[in-house]
Amino acid sequence: MSNSPQRLIGGVEAGGTTFRCAVAQSPQDILAETTIATRGPEETLEDVISFFAKHPSVQALGIASFGPLNLDLSDPGYGTLADTPKLDWQGYPLLRRLRERLNVPAHLDTDVVAAGMAEYQLGCARGAASLVYITVGTGIGGAYLINGQPNPGLKHAEMGHIPVARAPDDDFPGCCPFHGDCLEGMASASAIFQRWQCPPEQLPKTHPAWRLEAYYLAGLCLVLMRTLAPHAIVLGGGVLQAPGLIEQVRDEVYHGLAGYHALSPEDLKKVILKPGLAPNSGLFGSLLLAPGQERETAKQAKTVPRTAP
Ligand code: ZN
Repeated sequence: MSNSPQRLIGGVEAGGTTFRCAVAQSPQDILAETTIATRGPEETLEDVISFFAKHPSVQALGIASFGPLNLDLSDPGYGTLADTPKLDWQGYPLLRRLRERLNVPAHLDTDVVAAGMAEYQLGCARGAASLVYITVGTGIGGAYLINGQPNPGLKHAEMGHIPVARAPDDDFPGCCPFHGDCLEGMASASAIFQRWQCPPEQLPKTHPAWRLEAYYLAGLCLVLMRTLAPHAIVLGGGVLQAPGLIEQVRDEVYHGLAGYHALSPEDLKKVILKPGLAPNSGLFGSLLLAPGQERETAKQAKTVPRTAP
């Protein structure tokens, strides 16, 4: 974009409610930042482009986006939004539009992959040889990373939509438009709101909602531990800001293990973690996705190998 000798990177954390954009020398050295309300794709992108137009030294861009995304490199639709409930974004070529308009190399991945990369390189799970990053907000999403890199699959993971064992006496039908009572249908912020007619942030710490929430999130953790045995499970997103919730999740996981996995409550404190970078895991992660940046940061990162749980 310019002949400036200073090589800056740009990051876009594309969310369903807001887009956060940053210009930085490195993920932890942000020089300028803005937050844009998410509207239709073209008008939102115009604001994103206007922001970066003020920073012509940006030479590479990372995009961490809500999904689902088409990340199949062999598909002509690579870099587009897939069947998102936000109908005007369906099929929108987010990566191509930003590449073309800003004329810089750009890379796109999911918001949860980006947040997981940030927690691996800079946050609570530094050097964890395998980790799962989960976000619990309006929806629930997750990503599995090995040595800080996303595990390639046929499509990206949809951990929010796993089936979960219903809590005893829980007759809430679930709110997932696809599956009803999948994890997202039972434990997302939307589910909490529909179940209790109250937004999660207004529920008192002693409300029974939290024991139920811990039960369902522990169900996810148990599935992950039994299938992937990750070194770290990072539980992020707005709902996890509830005081005491992560401790309740660890408690439920410990009881759910029933002695089978040989993990003590102390061990679980090292496996089930709160994000170290919240609320910036995704934004830092978007900067890490900028082409060229990830290798530079990886060289600097002091990775601490962990022993398997
Ligand atoms: Zn579902």
